[in-house]
Amino acid sequence: MTDGKNTMGNRDVPVAALTGVGEKRAEAFAKAGIFTMSDLLHYYPRAYQNRGDVRPLECIREITKTGEPVTCSAVLTVGTEPQVRRIRNNMTLVKFSAFDETGSCEITYFHMEYVKRTFHVGAVFRFFGRFTYDYGRVQVTNPIYEAFVENKVLPSLVPVYPLVAGLSQKMLYQYTGEAMMKLGGSLTEYLPAWVLREASLPSHGWMVNVLHRPQSTEQLEAARRRLVFEELFLQFVCMAQNGGGAKIANRYPLTWNDISRFESLLPYTLTDAQKRCLGQIAGDMDGDYAMNRILIGDVGSGKTVVAAISAYLAIRSGYRAALMVPTEILAAQHYRELSALFEKLGIGTVLLTGSTPKKKREAILASLRDDSLSMDENAASLIIGTHALLTGDVQIDRLGLVIIDEQHRFGVMQRSAILEKGEDCHCLFMSATPIPRTLSLVAYGSLAVSSIDALPKGRQPIDTFIVNSSYHARMLNFIKKQAEEGHQTYIVCPAVEEKIKEKESTDPEELANLSLFDLTPDGMPSAGLQTRMDFALTPDAPPLKAAVTYAETLAEELPELKVGLVHGKMKPAEKDAVMAAYCRGEIHVLVATTVIEVGVNVPSATLMIVENAERFGLSQLHQLRGRVGRGDAKSFFILVSDSHEEGAMARLKTLKDTMSGYEIAQADLEMRGAGDFITGTGVRQSGQSMFRLAASCRDTDFMEHTAKLAKELIGEDPELAGWPALREKVDRIRYEGSRMEN
Ligand code: ADP
Ligand code: MG
Repeated sequence: MTDGKNTMGNRDVPVAALTGVGEKRAEAFAKAGIFTMSDLLHYYPRAYQNRGDVRPLECIREITKTGEPVTCSAVLTVGTEPQVRRIRNNMTLVKFSAFDETGSCEITYFHMEYVKRTFHVGAVFRFFGRFTYDYGRVQVTNPIYEAFVENKVLPSLVPVYPLVAGLSQKMLYQYTGEAMMKLGGSLTEYLPAWVLREASLPSHGWMVNVLHRPQSTEQLEAARRRLVFEELFLQFVCMAQNGGGAKIANRYPLTWNDISRFESLLPYTLTDAQKRCLGQIAGDMDGDYAMNRILIGDVGSGKTVVAAISAYLAIRSGYRAALMVPTEILAAQHYRELSALFEKLGIGTVLLTGSTPKKKREAILASLRDDSLSMDENAASLIIGTHALLTGDVQIDRLGLVIIDEQHRFGVMQRSAILEKGEDCHCLFMSATPIPRTLSLVAYGSLAVSSIDALPKGRQPIDTFIVNSSYHARMLNFIKKQAEEGHQTYIVCPAVEEKIKEKESTDPEELANLSLFDLTPDGMPSAGLQTRMDFALTPDAPPLKAAVTYAETLAEELPELKVGLVHGKMKPAEKDAVMAAYCRGEIHVLVATTVIEVGVNVPSATLMIVENAERFGLSQLHQLRGRVGRGDAKSFFILVSDSHEEGAMARLKTLKDTMSGYEIAQADLEMRGAGDFITGTGVRQSGQSMFRLAASCRDTDFMEHTAKLAKELIGEDPELAGWPALREKVDRIRYEGSRMEN
């Protein structure tokens, strides 16, 4: 798992080779995904403390007096002996005052009785912390302190690392220092020189060294710029390879193009946009080359039926068709809907997922290999499934068409793996995630694009509301009202279970992190990049609503209604049972995580409530909104947020203002960065994204330029044959991407 990160060839060494790293510490490192020194050097800080920002107390007082806290350093002399006081719960508190030439302030340490031995009257320290003004004087609590010695330089930009249990900031600072001494010089470049030149970038090795030990904000900004570029570039190279490659002769031409029987079974008529897309698809499948097309269309635009008819054409022409989807819920839903329809057409459908029982799976696999069953009634001709379709033992005879729904959810490896199940078969990708213009340059690689650009007629606009949790009681009434009218509600929470509160730390380094600031662009010299190290650093953020407890409470609040629960930690069969019950209308209110985000289709659901809406990306919220308004009844979308975060409300308001997925995608990109588009949605919440910086890149010119370079490189060398180290990294992204499942 570390191979992909390794940019040092055979010089890499396990972390155990670092001074004082025994079994226990190596385990802690492993938890952070660090196994080797190279891993450690690629474990980047999430923020920096600008301890070099030393201010006189007078200046601190002027600002804090207005009620605004200041995070900075002050070089102060201890003025009074530290006084220890015991307060409630056995807590101790150490207090003393300190001064410089311009004034004095009061310093307090909680939980840290031992510091009283450090601070003697007359000693000088550099204190870094969050200064405030209370009780008529400047105050600071638990500041970081460093003994100040004239002419000895203290570091001014201090990295702050993401931590796991068993690791501290001090350790990471020390170990990254040691690893840099031992290996820092041997980090190799993996990007082509012309790319570096075109983008005016420093080398990879320089960047790594600067990220751990920046000497100045200018250096740091240059390193960050390179890091953002790296992250974006890798993603874009990945995207640019999508569906690429040479044209392949058509081995599965259509011999059937009559869809009237299929259409007669539909309760509606196809829209013009659907017909046009179908025409393009049928044209491809009947053309000289194998189809390589993406079907895009906003949520609810009716892509499924287009896919189904495409499959119908292929099957009637004597081939099998496979539909691969990213979640079991979606696979089960497609199976429920399509098997009924195809049965009426005398075509057999099978469902193959990770939870298909072994016996059944074997029977299915046998039937898929049996080529005597060409056009028999009930022969398994349509195969619906998840990643389970990809395993080696799945062989599908005469597979002429592969359809990949919600294609952005799959890694490129998985996409090619399913395509390999059919020899040179037609392939149709589908996506409901509108790609902003800026990224569409690379997003579709060499795919032909069909777009369902109009929703079916008769859809009513969905009324969108933004409220805070004081509306909860009113919301309950509204849910009841929907149920009385025979309609259903979804409630989405950002977390599955309540987070167990972490033990409070007494380490001053850790405590200071609570008042930590990001190196925001405002603090940086302009290099054109609008990036932040991390979004998640909001200590005052409202607590996350957790689906499990929410459902319990709701069941008590609405005793007359049936409340269901579905989330990613449930077993597939359990999820399935709940979704099926919800589909049948046996559950009135479904509390869920974002597992229901993609593709779920329950037309009688008319109300979607999203708790902690500020935690979701706009495009993700738009997808969620797409779960309602699928029938004739008026539908509602309620965003609940108690966030005071600046901009959060303005962001959410975009959803109120427009129903267009494309406008929302562009707004999302500009306001929040490329995160949701370059990695799968949902990653951000888990905080696991490897691409934290790129995800927050909002500089569309920079992105476009990066995309152009990626496309150029892939145009020249589609397989990256000349760039093995780069290819290794791209493969790693694919591997990571392929593991993303809710
Ligand atoms: P998506 O494009 O998001 O995958 P679906 O294929 O799930 O959308 O379709 C959304 C809903 O619209 C489904 O309930 C489907 O039956 C319905 N639908 C599809 N095409 C039409 C149409 N031409 N007229 C009316 N309803 C349609
Ligand atoms: Mg869909």
